Amino acid sequence: MQIPTQIHDLTVAQLAQQLQAGRLSAVEVAQHFLARVQNRLDLGCYVDINPEVTLAQARASDARLASGHARGLEGVPMAHKDIFVTTDFCATAGSKMLKGYRSSFDSTVTSKLGNLGVVSLGKLNCDEFAMGSSNENSAIAPVGFDAPIPVKNPWDTTRIPGGSSGGSAAAVAARLTPAATGTDTGGSIRQPASFCGITGIKPTYGRASRYGMVAFASSLDQAGPMARTAEDCALLLSAMCGPDLDRDSTSLDVPAEDYSRTLNDSIAGLRIGLPQEFFGDGLAPDVRAAVDGALKELEKLGAKPVPISLPRTELSIPVYYIIAPAEASSNLSRFDGVKFGHRAAHYTDLADMYKKTRAEGFGDEVKRRIMIGTYVLSHGYYDAYYLQAQKIRRMIADDFQNAFKQCDVIAGPVAPTVAWKIGEKSDDPVANYLADIYTLPGSLAGLPGMSIPVGFGNENMPVGLQLMGNYFQEAKLLNVAHRFQQATDWHTRKPAGF
Ligand code: GLN
Repeated sequence: MQIPTQIHDLTVAQLAQQLQAGRLSAVEVAQHFLARVQNRLDLGCYVDINPEVTLAQARASDARLASGHARGLEGVPMAHKDIFVTTDFCATAGSKMLKGYRSSFDSTVTSKLGNLGVVSLGKLNCDEFAMGSSNENSAIAPVGFDAPIPVKNPWDTTRIPGGSSGGSAAAVAARLTPAATGTDTGGSIRQPASFCGITGIKPTYGRASRYGMVAFASSLDQAGPMARTAEDCALLLSAMCGPDLDRDSTSLDVPAEDYSRTLNDSIAGLRIGLPQEFFGDGLAPDVRAAVDGALKELEKLGAKPVPISLPRTELSIPVYYIIAPAEASSNLSRFDGVKFGHRAAHYTDLADMYKKTRAEGFGDEVKRRIMIGTYVLSHGYYDAYYLQAQKIRRMIADDFQNAFKQCDVIAGPVAPTVAWKIGEKSDDPVANYLADIYTLPGSLAGLPGMSIPVGFGNENMPVGLQLMGNYFQEAKLLNVAHRFQQATDWHTRKPAGF
């Protein structure tokens, strides 16, 4: 393939090569992206930039490149979902509660990337505490704005980019960064990747450290990369994963892996499980057509479709929307006006200070979840809701293990429809929750999952194919995705004007 001439069209892998070969400087690359970011502030992707910080990092990378001390991703720029705390930029998690907050330490994931030479372009918008599917729940005004605005999908700026990692997906699709970090609790990497026509992967739960990721639902939250190609995701995921046993009690003691090694393996004979529950009435015909096209392509590459069943798919919605709010209600108790962030200006006593601080600091969706969470955990309801949900969660995980007896990977849609219009579902939380149906089962089971662009649906909006694997099968998913991308060009399409 010919190397594109525009810096912003280069992939992470290509940028790394060009930088190592001295054909581009880190400063030149950083300046190029910073200028693009400035030109497209209207999309609302970035919530914090600081050209001085970015360029200082880029100059340090250039010095290493010049002296022969370059690290693996030296000088490659990236931006981070504003749920990762970093010392060089703000850490708001999209919440008024943390407006203007700056951390005194770096998250493990962002510092691992920094230690490989990644230059940070800034922080990206997201739904408040990662709760949402449309990025309409951010309470933070993006750079260039005085008040919060919904992040725009670069394919159609009247539509949502998906969420909660909406800023990450929109910025990658608009070439305002070559790649971004995201987090996925119930689909927040896969769904915005699908809606913006990019590639994203959520690893097995426990594979990437949660240290320094503002907690939403701790038994589900996982970090992962969002980029344009599976090859880039493999490079970045290898950098982000690995044990962090002293700082994250759920970090798995499994050594980091080089996911790039097996990208080109043949997928002849690979058994692809197609869950019948993912192809039912709820799936929009335009999305189905693109997904079917991708499955045909995989068959041409030698994969064999196998019908499977994940019988509790529908139950994953009520189960997730009990467990995630339960954990959120506990995690968010730390925002009490004392330890960090916002504190009400006027109050009468301590209890009043707590109440006013939390009433002012949290947005509607976050309050809704805190209330649901406290309700399902309360005495008298715990058994009926929380405990019951935990039991079904286990059964959902068992269903996957049964399915993996018949297949190597599972494929299906990421979301029932393409990205919807801004405002279309913003008054209807349940409509948002229902659209998570295909991403929640894998999240509840803690399995790795990814989304790759496979075509376009209604109104020419991107459609993603979801690939799910058994525990620690990230390399297999990336291999299938890479082979698909070698045979197709959906991942190279870009929105008009970018
Ligand atoms: N849409 C889901 C929710 O609102 C998932 C969000 C996520 O993965 N962070 O909770």
